[in-house]
Amino acid sequence: MIELDGSEGEGGGQVLRTALALSMITGVPLRIERIRAKRSKPGLMRQHLACVQAAMQISGAECEGAELGSQQLRFAPGPIRAGDYRYAIASAGSCMLVLQTVLPALLRADGPSRLELQGGTHNPLAPSFDFLARAYAPLARKLGAGLALDLRRRGFYPAGGGMVMAEITPAAGGLAPVNIAQRGAVQSLSAECIVAGLPRAIARRELDVLAEQLGWTQDQLLVAASHQNEGPGNALTATLAYTEVTEVFTAYGAKGVNAETVAGTLARDVGAYLASDAALGPHLADQWLLLLALAVYDSGKPAYFTCTEITGHTSTNASVIERFLPVVIRHAEQADGHRVDISPA
Ligand code: ATP
Repeated sequence: MIELDGSEGEGGGQVLRTALALSMITGVPLRIERIRAKRSKPGLMRQHLACVQAAMQISGAECEGAELGSQQLRFAPGPIRAGDYRYAIASAGSCMLVLQTVLPALLRADGPSRLELQGGTHNPLAPSFDFLARAYAPLARKLGAGLALDLRRRGFYPAGGGMVMAEITPAAGGLAPVNIAQRGAVQSLSAECIVAGLPRAIARRELDVLAEQLGWTQDQLLVAASHQNEGPGNALTATLAYTEVTEVFTAYGAKGVNAETVAGTLARDVGAYLASDAALGPHLADQWLLLLALAVYDSGKPAYFTCTEITGHTSTNASVIERFLPVVIRHAEQADGHRVDISPA
């Protein structure tokens, strides 16, 4: 049994999701207390409960404390079962985070799985569908994992209602690590603005700010088509594609936030990434850490990557991973960014 204090480090939902994933993979039961203690509403919110329920379903786990608001959980997994699963979050909670909870486990199941996910696909403070499809999934595929994602409908906060299909195919013989030292050559830099159920003029205003602040030309700035029944919502997404890595940054419109502020936030995030040569941006780094650690665990070989910063999410994820897997994670500052090394213990 591994016991975790959910208030350590970041003290949010990621501690729970990583712990669930690794408990299923190692078969070691988990007890976690003070879940999301550092958040203003601690305990399991709908989206975290959906992650617990999804993990219970794919591993036939016995569980205590799987209730809304619960601040403790005992989770004892059984064998991971491939299959067709459907997860719906009855709020705009991010269904992308549910996918990230079950993906590592389903990558080690006895066959391919198909998931239908419903809920938020474009949420602040969570990976968006575009981030997962363009930045995260191609990296996962480099490890030998099969991950195909299809967006059927976007779901924005607070209405939700998005839908994504995912096909997950385990890597034959386990995940194989790759080192990601550099981004490689630039392939394209672009931004797209989605305005669903809101005036289209918002898109023009946001893209004009990006043109001015990033110096991007009109052919790099697109207004994306929205599907029927989406929204209301506004997401401004930048995609920076290099030969080795693609990074995706998103800023969201919200009530009381003007279009210029949304675009200014995105321009700042993109500018910070462009000012560095390190391979991964802040969010991709914390999410990649778990997949790469699994590849090190499977293969017994070390691996590393470079990233622009070590966030609280990255260092917290590293401590949770080290509790479950026989790996050592070290990071060192470099002239430009940081290098993270993962070795078998
Ligand atoms: P809470 O903070 O309320 O507990 P949570 O469950 O979303 O909510 P966090 O622990 O904050 O938990 O984890 C958020 C995850 O979403 C992290 O992996 C983080 O890197 C990722 N994330 C946040 N914002 C973005 C973004 N803009 N793009 C990609 N990933 C993101």
